Amino acid sequence: MSEMRLRFPPSPTGKIHIGNMRTALFNWLWARKNNGKLILRIEDTDQKRSTKEFEDIIIKELDWLGIDIDEGAGVGGEYGPYRQSERLVLYQKYAEKLLKKAKAYRCYCSEEELGQMRKDALARGDMPKYNGHCRNLSREEELKYIEEGRKPVIRYRLTEEDKDIVVNDVIRGDVTFNTSVLDDFIIFKSDGMPTYNFAVVIDDALMKITEVIRGEDHLSNTPKQILIYEALDFPVPKFAHLPLILDRDRAKLKKRSEDDDVYIGEYREKGYLPEALFNFLVFLGWSPPDDKEILTRDEIIKNFELNNINKSAAVFDIDKLNWVNGKYIREADLDYIVELSIPYLKEAGYIDEVFVEKNYEWLKKVIEVARTGVDYLGQIPKEAELFFKKLEFEDKEKAVKEFQEEGVELVFTNLKEKLIDLDEFKPEKISTVFSELIKELPVGGRTVYHPTRLALTGMDSGPEMKNVIYILGIEETINRLDKALMMRYKK
Ligand code: GLU
Repeated sequence: MSEMRLRFPPSPTGKIHIGNMRTALFNWLWARKNNGKLILRIEDTDQKRSTKEFEDIIIKELDWLGIDIDEGAGVGGEYGPYRQSERLVLYQKYAEKLLKKAKAYRCYCSEEELGQMRKDALARGDMPKYNGHCRNLSREEELKYIEEGRKPVIRYRLTEEDKDIVVNDVIRGDVTFNTSVLDDFIIFKSDGMPTYNFAVVIDDALMKITEVIRGEDHLSNTPKQILIYEALDFPVPKFAHLPLILDRDRAKLKKRSEDDDVYIGEYREKGYLPEALFNFLVFLGWSPPDDKEILTRDEIIKNFELNNINKSAAVFDIDKLNWVNGKYIREADLDYIVELSIPYLKEAGYIDEVFVEKNYEWLKKVIEVARTGVDYLGQIPKEAELFFKKLEFEDKEKAVKEFQEEGVELVFTNLKEKLIDLDEFKPEKISTVFSELIKELPVGGRTVYHPTRLALTGMDSGPEMKNVIYILGIEETINRLDKALMMRYKK
């Protein structure tokens, strides 16, 4: 069997978003599963909106997510160039072929004329279609238009008016389109650039692509593309159209406000782990046979099948992503999480490089605790702030009242003694101190825990007491308990 060749052909007209990344990922998985090749092609025929900066962002984010490219832009290969703007002669060559075979023709109709045509059709209640005005122009007529300075487009000549075109889609089965819904569509624009539907066919054919996996929004383009494959005697690849991704309101996922993140980099910047996003994206349209929710890359590759992909739309659920990411953060190697968290703590102004070098082990303890309470690493500074900031009470008056309650002094004095007596200052040992206090003192559990938490953190809730004390250290713990006892005499 010949080699499987897949492609990811983004247009560099914006920062790469969730939907495109999911398409890249599914292509990558299918390529890896079948020992195939994944090709990155940059579709930059929209000259006004395409930029090198967006192209670089695409490459950077693919790399971040661990989607490696075998051939294409930034990598090279024998079917290049891999940027459409560098392939114009190829498109021209194949457009010429179609013109020669009379499967395409030049159309000189102006925007205004086309607009009028559309209006007339709508007024008649017809579907707006090109009316074929330039289909059979004589040489003289063409010359006249050229002399008028009109710039032609090239249109595909639709010859069969009532023919079924069947797209054999691996995910959706046979999808039939009738040529009656099409018209003589444009394959070359008047600015000398090919249209998407034309360039994509030439490239996929010349790059020997065997399967096209892309978003469902391209399904309706596929019949036009099949017509071009056939007109040029190219073999038609297999198609698989991935379900749409909807937001939680079941609207198409797109950026509507500052809170909606669709650009992949926003997740990276907030501190989502690539492993977690990878896992999450795979589930946008696919699920493994055994309903497991977190799988390794290898498990995903092993289980991944195109015909397991859902036909129905996938819903992007940020709570699910947060859950997956939180789980990865808690289970990942601690040093890795520390490395990734340091920039956020620096940005918050809590630490600098010198501090990191001097206090790495302490920092590690802090992050070990803080990571239990976050969804993404950008939340680490907030979660860990009590270890970096001076003690501050959320409600000082309330705290004073609480410290004045019966039993509190007894708890604090005994707690201090027991902590000082510990042979090892470790969370597990600190934990046993609390069990002993509860057993030995004539006070309830709340009187043991709550005033202590308040005295040590200034807050009503937060990380577990054993961890707070462990990180603050014995001296600071005793200082804070003493300070609380002193506060009782405040008026
Ligand atoms: N450049 C197109 C896009 O980003 C590619 C579509 C396709 O895969 O054919 O939507």
